[in-house]
Amino acid sequence: MSDLNQTITGFDLWHLELPVTSRRDHGIGSVEGTCEVVILRLTSEDGTEGFGEASPWSVFTGTPEATYVALNRYLRPLVLGSRVADRAAIMTQAAYAVAHCTEAKAALETALLDLAGRISGVPVWAMLGGKCRDTIPLSCSIANPDFQQDVALLDQLREDGVRIVKLKTGFRDHAFDVMRLEHLAQNCPEFSVRVDYNQGLSIEDAPAQVRDVAQFQPDFIEQPVRAHHYGMMARLRDQIDVPLLADESVFGPEDMERAAREGICDGVSVKIMKSGGLSRGQTVARIAAAHGLSAYGGDMFEAGLAHLAGTHMIAATPEVTLGCEFYQASYFLKEDILEEPFIVRTGKVLVPEAPGLGGRPDLGKLNHYAVAKAVAA
Ligand code: MG
Repeated sequence: MSDLNQTITGFDLWHLELPVTSRRDHGIGSVEGTCEVVILRLTSEDGTEGFGEASPWSVFTGTPEATYVALNRYLRPLVLGSRVADRAAIMTQAAYAVAHCTEAKAALETALLDLAGRISGVPVWAMLGGKCRDTIPLSCSIANPDFQQDVALLDQLREDGVRIVKLKTGFRDHAFDVMRLEHLAQNCPEFSVRVDYNQGLSIEDAPAQVRDVAQFQPDFIEQPVRAHHYGMMARLRDQIDVPLLADESVFGPEDMERAAREGICDGVSVKIMKSGGLSRGQTVARIAAAHGLSAYGGDMFEAGLAHLAGTHMIAATPEVTLGCEFYQASYFLKEDILEEPFIVRTGKVLVPEAPGLGGRPDLGKLNHYAVAKAVAA
């Protein structure tokens, strides 16, 4: 039975701890040693498999433990026995079966799309409206507390053809941020530079420091203050002549509507882990565009499987015009989990043409890095 009417009969999970190459400091917290993701595998009656990844970060979206339980206990019953074709019905029920847990819902929609795509023989982007681009410019984050290590990373990025970097600011002090911006301006003129505070500034410090950083004319300055400080975001936006982007302030379409109404940003970071899936991520980008705001494809600390999901979403969403930041599989993880590497060529992510996501995880690696799993014998 090679059609979408078959039911979903398998639902397996792996909670992974993936070793990383360096420390990353952000305004809201640090990642060092490992990052944690949860992998979902769905199996249909004919044995076809679809995979999805949840990439939570406790200080940002939620915890891996909550993600694992959301999938294992609350979403599993909605999925097993459902038809592959009934993706929208499953996702609508999932929205209300467990509150929040947007990363779990992103993994679920990714796996449902991968499964349907593999059965139908079409890429995920074809099921999201069709393709509007073949490549996506890649931005890599500069976030190491030891800037000399990032200077070496910049050399590698230059050699690899990457031409966009995002400087993570607000985790040490203003002088450190200014020193690194000056270094980039003097030594790395070929790079477009973006700045992201990840909520790192207090409302007392934000106006002066953001004005200062704006003088370097980065492409944009992202989320200087806490997610809920909508009023301060709007004030900062009025004070500077470079675009102000919202990230933590905007999770799903509902936040995007409010952000646009209250004038807190010139653009938004769209992440499937925040929006709760690829379809809702597309909606965020479309609402932004309808209000004259720009969008780029952000991510969390992800492995290549989540990068693939984000790539298909952006490939089918013309409103995401500012590229993506799917750099972790290539520049942060010691080893990615995909069977074939996530492809970046001369600073651009290549949109896959193969059915489903166009890539799948290596089962040996899933079992090797698992700290918990629920896999049928
Ligand atoms: Mg951000």
